[in-house]
Amino acid sequence: MQIIKTVEELKNIRKTLKGTIGFVPTMGALHDGHISLIKKAREENEIVIVSIFVNPTQFLKGEDLSTYPRKEEADIKICQMCKVDYLFMPDIKTMYEEDEVLIKAPQNSYVLEGFTRPGHFDGVLQVVLKLFNLTQATNAYFGKKDAQQLALIQQMVKNLFLPINIIPCDIVRENSGLAMSSRNVYLSIEQKQEALKISKSIYMAGNLIAKGERDANIVKDKIYEVLAPLDIEYVKVVDKRFDEIEVIEPSNTIILVVVRFGNVRLLDNIWM
Ligand code: AMP
Repeated sequence: MQIIKTVEELKNIRKTLKGTIGFVPTMGALHDGHISLIKKAREENEIVIVSIFVNPTQFLKGEDLSTYPRKEEADIKICQMCKVDYLFMPDIKTMYEEDEVLIKAPQNSYVLEGFTRPGHFDGVLQVVLKLFNLTQATNAYFGKKDAQQLALIQQMVKNLFLPINIIPCDIVRENSGLAMSSRNVYLSIEQKQEALKISKSIYMAGNLIAKGERDANIVKDKIYEVLAPLDIEYVKVVDKRFDEIEVIEPSNTIILVVVRFGNVRLLDNIWM
C-alpha cells in the first residue's frame, strides 16, 4: 500500500493507473462500518483508493473539528489489512486555497441534518467533488448510515453529470445493535447502554411497518415511546427525496432518528 500525502502526488499516480478504481472517502478513526465499504470496493474493483481527511469545510463553528477522533497509525494498519492500494491522507493546505469556488447544496440539504447544521452539506459536496476529480474513480462507496449525505452525493453526480457510480452500503452495527460511528468513542459506558434504545426503536418501527402499519405519525409516536427519556433531536419519516410523508410507502421510505448525548449526536436510520 502506498500512502499519498499531496494532491500533486495523487494526480501523478492517477495518470499511471489503468483498470477499475473503487474509492472510499472517510474521515478516519476507521471502524467496521468503514471496513465494510473498503471490502466491497476491494471485491468490485481492480484498484482501491481510500482517503482519510477530516474536512474542515463541513464542520460548523463550535463543532468538534479540533477534537474529532484521529487514529492515523491504526487506520494505516487497517487499510493495509484490507489490501488498499493507495491511502490518500492529505492535509488542509494541499486540499484548499484561501478563496475558492464553492459548491451550493440544493434546498433539501437544509432539512434534517442540514437544519441543525446549515451549510454542512455544502462542505461535504465540495470535498467529495474534489476527491472525485482527483481519483477519477469508477465506483465510490458510501454508507446508508449517512442517508441524506448519500442522497445529496447521488444528486450532485446526477446534476453535474459526473462520470462515477455511487454504491450505497448497508449500515454496520455493533453486536448490541448500535450503529458504528467514529463518534461512539465519546460515549461513556452508561451512555452507550442508553444509546441501544436508538436501534431498538428503529427495529421496532421496521417490524410495525412489516406488519402493515402505514401511518407515519403512529410509527413516530411509538419510536418516541421507546426512546424516552433520551434527548431526541428528531424522528422523521421521509421518502427518498427526503420530503416528510404521512403515509408510509414501503420501498420509498426512510425513518431517521437523531439523539443527543451532550454534544454528541448519534444518527441511525432504517430504509424500508
Ligand atoms: P465518515 O468517516 O464518518 O465520514 O464516514 C465515511 C463513510 O463511512 C461514509 O460513507 C459513511 O456513511 C460510512 N459509514 C460510517 N459509519 C458507517 C456504518 N456504521 N455502516 C456503514 N457505513 C458507515
